[in-house]
Amino acid sequence: MKNLSDINVIKSVMSRHGVTFNKGLGQNFLVDPEVCPAMAEAAGLNENTCAIEIGPGVGVLTAELAKRAGKVLSFEVDTRLLPVLSETLAEFNNVEIINQDVMKADLKGIIEEKCKGMEIAVVANLPYYITSPIIMLLLESRLPVKSVTVMVQKEAADRLCAEVGSRDGGAVTVAVSYYSEAQKLFYVPRESFLPPPKVNSEVIQLTVRPEPPVTVSDEEKFFKLVKAAFSQRRKTAENSISAGLGIPKPQIAEALEKAGLERTVRAEKLTMDDFAALAEILL
Ligand code: SAM
Repeated sequence: MKNLSDINVIKSVMSRHGVTFNKGLGQNFLVDPEVCPAMAEAAGLNENTCAIEIGPGVGVLTAELAKRAGKVLSFEVDTRLLPVLSETLAEFNNVEIINQDVMKADLKGIIEEKCKGMEIAVVANLPYYITSPIIMLLLESRLPVKSVTVMVQKEAADRLCAEVGSRDGGAVTVAVSYYSEAQKLFYVPRESFLPPPKVNSEVIQLTVRPEPPVTVSDEEKFFKLVKAAFSQRRKTAENSISAGLGIPKPQIAEALEKAGLERTVRAEKLTMDDFAALAEILL
């Protein structure tokens, strides 16, 4: 098997198939030989796992998944990479490349059809231009996914894995914590990629919760409130919720008091329980 993290191997297979790097698709390929095996190990794959990958590139992580999982479904939007992948992954008979944009694919239908009875784990070196949309899509659509082990931009990792109620927290932190338990696994410097991106990276793991940590009667309204609260970070939660949801300030002040919160509190200080309580009172 070829060493797919070797710069010369990557360059030669791509040039043989006339493929150049497409920056717009976030094509920065891993060239550190230790990262992909470590990601695949961290995902805890076995014969009964169907691993879902987003963006195989030249297949460096795909191969590590194929060695450990029963099946690998890998979504790649760039049609030019298909002949490359046929060559680099030729020795595996448990890999299926799905030439679709992951954001538009019928993930639920595809998983139901192709991963019947298997445990699902998402493992990917994500295209950074759509990190949060992909993560939210995976979590919100309540796919039967056990865990999501992904490489993201360092700053995105800080936000996604922050504590709700801490300085680094944001609306996406609340959403991620609602659906999963997030943790950072390891740091990956920019030099580990070809071409090197401008930013450093981190591998994170989201373990999907069987049940959310708080009871919310209307999730859509709950998340609207969360988004409004964080929409103007330098303002108080009272001001941003009022502006974001068009609710008069005295009403918000009353809700904050009922929930046992100060009127001057900012969104970043609110806990999951605080957001749940405010949503129940206000919406
Ligand atoms: N897994 C490879 C690696 O680690 O070297 C490549 C990762 S590269 C950061 C991201 C990959 O995602 C590229 O292959 C790119 O073409 C693909 N991609 C970008 N947008 C996509 C989308 N919307 N759906 C599916 N794949 C996408």
